Parts: sequence; C-alpha cells; structure tokens
Amino acid sequence: MYKIKLVGVLLVFVFVGNTQNSFIVENVKVFDGEIVIESTSVKVEDGIITEISKSIKASDGYEVIDGNGKTLMPALSNAHVHAWGPQSLEEAAKAGVLNVMDMHGVETYQSAMRQLKDSTNYARYYVAGYAATAPEGHGTQYGFPVPTLMKPEEAKKFIDDRVKANVDYIKIIVEPWKATLDSVTVAQLIKEAHKAERIAVVHVSRLDNAVDAISNDADGLVHIWWDKELEASQLKKLSEEKSFFVIPTLLTTIEVFKVMGSGAAQFLSKEQLFLEVKKMHEAGIPILAGTDPPNANINYGTDLYKELQLLSESGLSNVEVLKAGTSNITKAFGLDNVGYIKVGYKADLVLVNGDVTKDISLLNNEKTVWKEGKLVKQ
Ligand SMILES: [Zn+2]
Repeated sequence: MYKIKLVGVLLVFVFVGNTQNSFIVENVKVFDGEIVIESTSVKVEDGIITEISKSIKASDGYEVIDGNGKTLMPALSNAHVHAWGPQSLEEAAKAGVLNVMDMHGVETYQSAMRQLKDSTNYARYYVAGYAATAPEGHGTQYGFPVPTLMKPEEAKKFIDDRVKANVDYIKIIVEPWKATLDSVTVAQLIKEAHKAERIAVVHVSRLDNAVDAISNDADGLVHIWWDKELEASQLKKLSEEKSFFVIPTLLTTIEVFKVMGSGAAQFLSKEQLFLEVKKMHEAGIPILAGTDPPNANINYGTDLYKELQLLSESGLSNVEVLKAGTSNITKAFGLDNVGYIKVGYKADLVLVNGDVTKDISLLNNEKTVWKEGKLVKQ
C-alpha cells in the first residue's frame, strides 16, 4: 500500500518534469536560421528541439500551440553591447535577444552577470572583458580603471590576463581620435589571441585601420568605418584572402552622426554606409547585427529591430537580415546549439504574429519568447 502510493507520486513528478518545457508549435512558418520552411511543426522536449516535421502528432500531454499566420524563428543575438547590470540582460531577453556579446567592461562585474546564463528571463552574457587599448586611449574614459598597453612585447601578458578572467573572445580598440595602439601591437594581440584559442575583434572608425586589422588576421570588425569608401579591388582582395565578419552598428553610427550635427558632414552619408554594407554582403562577408548599447541611448532589446531594419534598407534580403541577427552571430562567436531551429538545438525561440520573413518590422508586435523551452516573462 505504502509502496504503491510512492510510485504514484513519482509518476506525477516525472510527468510534470517532462511537460514543463515541452510543447509543439503546429502549422507554422519557420525561419530556421538559414532558410524558410513554409509550413511545418516543431516539437520541443525538455527545452530541446527534437523534431521538425509536418507530421508531428499531438502527444504525451504536450501543449499544442497553433502557429497559423505566425513565424517561428531562432532567438536573436546582439553582437555588440556593453551591459552594466542584470537589467540590461533582462531587457534583451524580453525582446527575444537571448545572447549578447559585451565588447568592453569591468571583468569583476561581468563574472556575476555571467552566472545568469541559465536563468530564463536573462540573455546569456558573453564577454571580451577589458578591451585592449593604449594609455589615454578610447575605452579609458568611462571612469573605471582599464589595463592598457603600448608595445607588442606586452601583448602576451594582456591576453594571458584576459584568459585568466575566462573571457570568451578578445576585443582590440584602434581609434586614432585619441592615443591608440599601433599596427604591430594590434597584430601581436591578434596572434596571441589565436594562440589562446580566442577570436579577436577590432573597433575601428577608419577604413585604413580596418584594412590593416583584417590584413593582420582579425576575425571581425565591431563597427563599420566612417571616413571613406572601400574600393572594389581592395574588397575583392580582402574577401578572397581573409576570413572575417563585420558588425556594422549602423544605428549607433547614424545616432552618433545626429549628435555631431554638421560635424558629421566629413564622414560617409547614411546612404554611403548602406552601400558599404551591401558591397561587403555581396562579397560574401558575414554581416552581424549589433547596436552598441547604451551608447547613443540605444536600448538592449527592441532597438536591435531597428538595426535589422537598417540592414534591410542596405539591400540585404529579409532572410539575410534575419541571419545577421541569429545564426551569423552564433556561428561567428562559436556558440553551441543556438542560433538555429534544428533538431538537438536549444529551444531558444521567438514566435511572431505575421510573416516576419516578408516584413521585419513585425518583430515590434506582440510575440512569444522561449529560452530553452521556458517562457520568457513579457
Ligand atoms: Zn562598443
């Protein structure tokens, strides 16, 4: 009698455990991180995508969600942020942005925020730790002490210290408006980063610095240059010889130009920036969406949709825009089992009302966000 009771309790427990973050989205249009599937169903079990097929049958007491007239896509990522507290990660998650890449911050604060990676209502936080910069250089003006360097001989120690802080990747700043790292030191930092099995991304605002960083094997640029157009022959050479991605941060650049007023006249126009992005995209260079909050008062969540809109205005197709906000980022930063709707991947999902593959702005509508199969609080 006693035994039977216990088995009953266990069965109830197992049942609840299985269905808590298990469900089926039926008859839904899917953008899977690469392609669009017109109508299918997606099964999630215990937070993992286990089946994608038209013929999934409602079973096992799983909740069935009608996806008719909706789009199911992988959760978004933001490839360039500076998060200063858990509320930034919460704001991101709410907007369906479940991975954010921090590009310069205080390592001790960051380690606490990284502990939230498995918490449903927070975006996973990936970090560069402190960015590499010169004494008095860009990145030293924010009121927190920053380790700096000047010479290539100092690159190894700088990278070793970041590895000790367990950073995910290395960020290097080249910003000639202030004291800045020279090309030899940047090259050495990239070399040491690669030895330490980290990718190295570089902040630039000038084309010559961008070309130099890529020639020195940088894996990515965290902004587009502002000052002049990349020539076709140079683009061809770079795209053929090097493998790199670009996070154009168009929204940030346009907002900063607005603040600069007539001072921005010396730089590329919005239309010219769009053309630079389009040229790179057409040359096969992966474009990644990033917004650099809190710079220019940009938020950690919904403002990413504005960047996607700007990438669309640059001439990327909507599918390419959605890739820029999902799989291009997770692939570039080597994040496992996220960024796609594929069997075995985490059920980090956004269900949008309407066809987001036709109209990116629909992301602004009411939507459902799941992190590992659990509903993110709206
Ligand atoms: Zn930044």
